[in-house]
Order: sequence, then structure tokens, then C-alpha cells
Amino acid sequence: MAKKNTTHEQVGQTRALLKQAHQLIKSAQRPLLICHISPDGDAVGSMVGLGRVLRQMGLAPTLACSDSIPDTLSFIPGSDEIVSQVDAPFDLVIALDSSDMERLGQFPKSPGFADVPLLNIDHHLTNLNFGDVNLVDPQASSTAEIVLRLLGAFGAPLDADTATALLTGIVGDTRCFRTNNVSPQVLEAALRLMKAGASLPYVSLHALDSRPTAAVRLWGAALSQLQIEDHVIWTSIPLAVRQETGYTGTGDASLVSFLISAEDADAAAVFVERDDGRIDVGLRAKPGFDVAQVALQFGGGGHALAAGCTLPGPLDEAQARLLAVLKTSLVKQRAKRET
Ligand code: AMP
Ligand code: MN
Ligand code: MN
Repeated sequence: MAKKNTTHEQVGQTRALLKQAHQLIKSAQRPLLICHISPDGDAVGSMVGLGRVLRQMGLAPTLACSDSIPDTLSFIPGSDEIVSQVDAPFDLVIALDSSDMERLGQFPKSPGFADVPLLNIDHHLTNLNFGDVNLVDPQASSTAEIVLRLLGAFGAPLDADTATALLTGIVGDTRCFRTNNVSPQVLEAALRLMKAGASLPYVSLHALDSRPTAAVRLWGAALSQLQIEDHVIWTSIPLAVRQETGYTGTGDASLVSFLISAEDADAAAVFVERDDGRIDVGLRAKPGFDVAQVALQFGGGGHALAAGCTLPGPLDEAQARLLAVLKTSLVKQRAKRET
């Protein structure tokens, strides 16, 4: 009974939030849509999908991201309209797929940002609710799924390009409906998008099964340095190795999602040395474990099974610090499970 009440409350709360988000958007004319740095398919797909519908509603949105959009995401219709500098005035900010303000890059420091309402649309467990309205649902598979709900609240018609953008977010964040947050609602959302003209084979081919050849070389170099200890599997990508392989993207080219497939691993980590000397860490956990709490301790965030953070260099120190905390956390998590 208690559970049922909670569910009703959540649904009521979500409806109220959707209404508040709708109100904010209705009173805006020039919204600024921004997504997180090192953008992925959900960041770009949810932003472009929402931007297209806002434009169809007669608004003049600007779409921006601090980092450039990787070539692998250029198949998302309208992703070429995303800018990295904002000159135009705006009367509302909509943050997408970002758990905190730091992940929004330089925009929170730009003039006018603090003077307009901020709508925060996200699904990270670790979201800091930094908006005036926080349309945040950690149960959602992706930010794109929440955007689809919002478009439902508008009664907005979906065209094939909007549907393709949003399906990219869902497919990317669920690794094509394979993560443990995939519910019948997620499949229903995907069904709606396919009926609106999105192609699942096309989206999954581009979003998951296509990468620069240099990324494959990067995997090779990183896999040759693989280590496993105390049920944690990890590897590092020093700057020099990244340069040798010719990989120009940020992050680990999704290697960490592959590492966690190792049967002996409860958690996986990949340490990537950035151009500025800081270390990006990608973390994954097997179901039943939680790496978001570890990422959060280092100022990062994410979901229980997929999280990340950025540590100061040098590489070996960052690695030692994070692995110590991760291993201790896993020991505690195992002990808790056994009680
Ligand atoms: P990734 O390993 O880049 O695919 O990221 C996995 C999850 O962790 C995603 O939900 C990211 O948004 C989140 N994440 C990755 N890096 C960070 C970071 N430095 N701060 C906060 N969240 C992060
Ligand atoms: Mn994302
Ligand atoms: Mn996401």
C-alpha cells in the first residue's frame, strides 16, 4: 500500500513538474538550450529533439554546447546547428542531461545567465536540482525519454527527424535497450518514436556500432595494459598513447562499457589523461553495485551502473586515489548485501 501511494505521489509530482516546465517554455521566446560537456547521444539527441519542436512552436531557440559535437553524432538531424559560443540574447535556459552546473561548461558564467529562469531536464541519480524547475527523473532511461514526455504535455506532433534525435538518446543511454532501467515504458517510448518515422537499425548502427578507426586502435593500446584486482578491472590511456593512436575524441571511446563485461569484474574504470593534465575517469558497475557514489566523492556523478568524474593529475596518483576508494566502497557494498 505504502509503495502504491509513493508511486501515485511520484506520478502527481511528475505531472506538476511537466506543467511547470510547460509554463516556463510557453512564456519564453528565445530559449537557450545547453547540454553537458563531452556530449553523448542523449545530450545531443534530447537537445536537438526539443529544439526542433520549440522552433515548430514559433520560438527561436539557440542550441549550444561548450565542447564540439563528435563526428560520430553528426548523423543526428540538426546537430550541425549547435554552437559553442552564444551571442544572441535569451530569456530562458534549458539544461539537458547535465547533473550539475559545472558539466554545462562556460555558459553558467555568461552574462544574463543568472537573470533568466533555469529549467533543468535530466535523469541522473546525482542531479543537484540546480534549476528553478527541476524536471529530474532518475527512473527515466534517458533525458530524451523525459523530453518525449514533455512534448506529450505540449501535445506537440513528432516528425521523423525529431523522433530520430530522441531515439538516439534512448538507444545510447540504454545501449540499445540492454540496461537494467529498461521498462515497458521505455519500449513504448521507442515504439512511439519508430511510429513517428525513426529507424531503430539506423540509429543503433550510428549511435553504437560505428566509431572512428583510431578509437579501435585506442582500445587495442588500452587493452594491452589491462589490470584486474579485487574484482575491479581497469586500464589507463596516457596522453602520449592517445596521440599515437590518432584518437581526437574525448573520453575512452566507450571502452569502459566493454571492460565491465569481464565475468570477474564487479566494477570497471578507465583513466584518460586529458590535454590539460587532468584525468577523466569512466566507471561502470555490475547490477547490484553502485559507482555513482564513488564518482560523487570526487565531484563527479552519474548513475549506479555508469558514472564518471575528473581528478587532478598526474595519472598514476589519480588512479591510486580512485582505485582505493572504489575498492573500499565495493567491500562495503558486498558486506551490506550479505546482511
Ligand atoms: P561516460 O563514462 O562518459 O559514458 O559517463 C557515464 C555517466 O557518468 C554518464 O551519465 C555521465 O553523464 C556521467 N559522468 C561522466 N563523467 C562525469 C563527470 N565528470 N561529472 C559528472 N558526471 C559524469
Ligand atoms: Mn549524457
Ligand atoms: Mn543521459
